[in-house]
Amino acid sequence: MSLPDIVTSVADLRARVAAWRRAGESVALVPTMGALHEGHLALVRRGREIARRVVVSIFVNPKQFAATDDFGRYPRTEARDRALLGDAADLVFAPGPADMYPEGFASAITVEGPSEGYEGAARPGHFSGVATVVAKLFLQCAPDVALFGEKDWQQLQVVRRLVADLDLPLQVVAHPTVRDEAGLALSSRNAYLAPEEIAVARRLNFGLREIAGALARRADWPRILDEGRARLAEAGLPGIDYVDAVDAETLRPMPGPVAGRPARLLAAVRLGAVRLLDNMPVEADAPAIRR
Ligand code: AMP
Repeated sequence: MSLPDIVTSVADLRARVAAWRRAGESVALVPTMGALHEGHLALVRRGREIARRVVVSIFVNPKQFAATDDFGRYPRTEARDRALLGDAADLVFAPGPADMYPEGFASAITVEGPSEGYEGAARPGHFSGVATVVAKLFLQCAPDVALFGEKDWQQLQVVRRLVADLDLPLQVVAHPTVRDEAGLALSSRNAYLAPEEIAVARRLNFGLREIAGALARRADWPRILDEGRARLAEAGLPGIDYVDAVDAETLRPMPGPVAGRPARLLAAVRLGAVRLLDNMPVEADAPAIRR
């Protein structure tokens, strides 16, 4: 199996994409922060189904980490990432901070609406950092499609809003959350969990499945959510930042079902050194575990 080529400058990225364009080839982009796992690889494989060429960007974006976040210790495993990608990707774009934010860089993109609340409230500046780097990556690579995971549901809605608002000429494709055999959503940050914490972390998806099922069947959402939070705490997950039902697109809290507006159950729970993020659709059939 071959390794994907790697470029670090915007000029080299553009030259590679321009050559593909001259040959009439379509391009998919998968933005990541590296420390790749099966969740990322699923996006990459989906990209290959949609487009002839696949670019994976690997950039640990300082602008999306709040001061108290884990920027310094975020796992960086570039050689392993490239080996994992093998021939699933054509090109890795791995810019350094100075390629992305040269001396004097002074711009930022703010997406209101879906950025507000939840991760936006927990991590001030986070979604502006995401929107800024994602807009830059889209302009640097100019892909036909960009793939994002449902794992980061709020981020997905922020990116969709950004693309719609700025008329960015590409399609955003979402991929369902990839989970381990017990349903735990894969995340680069799971590497910080001790083995005994993983067993506890796995209880989150079961608890959320139960809550999402009850929300789909009954209309007394505040009560279902209160009881669900209490059950999660009893199951060893008392560090709840939020477990809430929101409008799936606008991220506004939903106190009960609204005809024609799909709802999403969002959760962030602190466990050891990690904030576990997960989300589920509120629909009659409990979502199947995907690997
Ligand atoms: P990250 O490297 O954490 O910035 O993630 C890069 C992309 O992979 C984002 O679009 C994430 O939503 C997506 N992603 C991360 N984990 C998963 C997962 N378990 N399942 C599906 N997509 C994921």
